[in-house]
Amino acid sequence: MSPAREDTAPSVLLAHHLKQLKLPTVLREYDKVARECAQSGLDHSRYLLRLVELELIDRERRLVERRIRAARFPAVKSLDTFDFAAIPSLNKMLVLELARCGYILGRENVIALGNSGTGKTHVALALGLAACQKGFSVAFTTAASLVNQLLEARDERRLLRLQRELAAVKLLIVDELGYVPLSSTGAELLFEVFSQRYERGSTVVTSNLPFEDWTSVLGSERLTGALLDRLTHHVSILSLNGDSYRLRASRSRRGRTDGGAEPNQAIAATYNPETGEIPPI
Ligand code: ADP
Ligand code: MG
Repeated sequence: MSPAREDTAPSVLLAHHLKQLKLPTVLREYDKVARECAQSGLDHSRYLLRLVELELIDRERRLVERRIRAARFPAVKSLDTFDFAAIPSLNKMLVLELARCGYILGRENVIALGNSGTGKTHVALALGLAACQKGFSVAFTTAASLVNQLLEARDERRLLRLQRELAAVKLLIVDELGYVPLSSTGAELLFEVFSQRYERGSTVVTSNLPFEDWTSVLGSERLTGALLDRLTHHVSILSLNGDSYRLRASRSRRGRTDGGAEPNQAIAATYNPETGEIPPI
């Protein structure tokens, strides 16, 4: 070691080394934990163990946050805020089981079907969040946006790269299949994505259309058959049929407002601070 280094205060060197080793939590906590361990008479190895555990916990949290950012969720939603009583057609036990992510290990798929406003996107987001928390890479997109991305990538001669990225992610969530009819090229590109993921990774699809109407979106009966064949080979189907949660919430709000009781509370229950979305009255 050079004389200049010997002169440097150990805390400065330690900070430098810990930064280089990428141990930010150890750097932040070592002094405080040292004092705590001295007070409770813990020896050096226990001190080191406590520091290393703190680093591991923080690292896991940072990784989950990174996966959530990479997934590009339009909002972060979990099952904690999902009211299962509002949608009796949905198999709650199945959803809770899916949130344990066994289907991702089995490379199986999930399809959520139901009319608008019944919580399909909420459940898909919650499954995506659970997957991020369990250590899986996730990508969230709508069918229309995915098709646009594929068409754009094809025009810019980077389709292969995008297809590889989409095939590599452990869980791909394709929301809102059915709202926009796809061009025949768009439908074929979407089919390829599902095909490339078949038995290699899990896909969650949500749709407002029952399977028999998917042809109206994908254009061709042959393509729809082939796509459903792959998607439904290993699949859990979630059925969300019922009243729109948005509509019901706004009706109940209106009812309560008309009666003059707790209008603010009712608005707070339906206002979504993440999206700033206020349901129509
Ligand atoms: P869909 O995707 O089926 O059209 P969303 O998941 O977008 O419906 O639901 C519309 C709004 O209502 C969202 O803000 C969602 O969080 C909320 N929502 C829907 N169903 C429920 C529910 N059962 N419990 C709590 N919030 C719900
Ligand atoms: Mg939706």
